[in-house]
Amino acid sequence: MSDVKGLVILGSTGSIGRSTLEVVRSFPGSFRVLALTGGRNVDLLEAQVREFRPRLVALSSEDAARELRRRIGDRTEVVSGVEGIIEAATVDGADMVVSAISGAAGLLPTFAAVRAGRDVALANKESLVVAGSILVEESRKSGSRIIPVDSEHSAVFQALQGNRKEDIRRIILTASGGPFLRLNPAEMEKVTPREALNHPRWDMGVRITIDSATLMNKGLEVIEARWLFDVEPESIQVLIHPESIIHSMVEYIDRSIIAQMAWPDMKLPISYALHYPERAELNLPPLCLEDVGRLTFEEPDRARFPSLDLAYRALEEGGTMAAVLNAADEVAVDAFVEGRLPFTAIPKVVEGVMDLHSPLQITDVREVMEVDRWAREKALEVIENRFRGVKWRHL
Ligand code: MG
Repeated sequence: MSDVKGLVILGSTGSIGRSTLEVVRSFPGSFRVLALTGGRNVDLLEAQVREFRPRLVALSSEDAARELRRRIGDRTEVVSGVEGIIEAATVDGADMVVSAISGAAGLLPTFAAVRAGRDVALANKESLVVAGSILVEESRKSGSRIIPVDSEHSAVFQALQGNRKEDIRRIILTASGGPFLRLNPAEMEKVTPREALNHPRWDMGVRITIDSATLMNKGLEVIEARWLFDVEPESIQVLIHPESIIHSMVEYIDRSIIAQMAWPDMKLPISYALHYPERAELNLPPLCLEDVGRLTFEEPDRARFPSLDLAYRALEEGGTMAAVLNAADEVAVDAFVEGRLPFTAIPKVVEGVMDLHSPLQITDVREVMEVDRWAREKALEVIENRFRGVKWRHL
């Protein structure tokens, strides 16, 4: 590896992708961007291509790819579709692939990068949620290192440095609790997309923001942690910590708990992954604990936030059940954001689809994609059959 790290950024127009490029921008000479991928945001990709001059750009939409080609000429190769994004994920000479595509769409390119032996800075938690067992297996075979970008998992990863896996007693994932931590059940029924999209601590994409409000995001993170750190689900605890200063903790067998603390800012876990095993100086405000004053913790309310138990259930039932949980949730979140589903029905749709599924052993990533498609169709049916006609208007 030369001193300049060759990077691929999958999902460069999304929230994590943009923050990654901000980190790259603040370390001139440390990174070279070899490839970028995006969906349909041609304007932003064009600006990124002009600034970072990658060799290859991949867009999921062919129309958008044609438009980008027209604008930038043939200085950068522009490809499209899933195959194009996989080509970007495995481009020659890359030291690290930042996997920041949102949702199950990130699965195939992340797999391709791992299979090609690239180190992966993983922000796309769905890859581990839907196919963790085989992704981890592939990384063992190829020698690819998976370095978490998700702030909680980055915290755990940092707290694990220099310690032995067999000395872990418990992983404690912290959760802000989202904007509705103190609402009663009747108030939760009336939550609007606008309220749910207004997260108190983190500025993130749409799905993850809604998932944070239902605590499904924390459920997905439990599944992510199970595979990333190879621990049993019963050794993973979720703790509500509204100040979001401690990003997660590891308890060891001697009852020592090691926590990672910082102001919430995704640039920190991104920079840690990009520079790992080193740390780099970041221009972030110092965390003065005397200003924070008080850190508080409480048990999550599993009755008001049933998504958490659904995630543990998916792990317990195993195989493809977590893929079903994830896909049904994506569809239910879309329906909520579009005003077709009440907030409190999101976990009900997920549970309804899980009830219809008998989990299969995962052997291949394309099989998982089939189950993902099935679960999406079923989720639409459940929404149509059970929630059509539910009086629900919040526009
Ligand atoms: Mg997180």
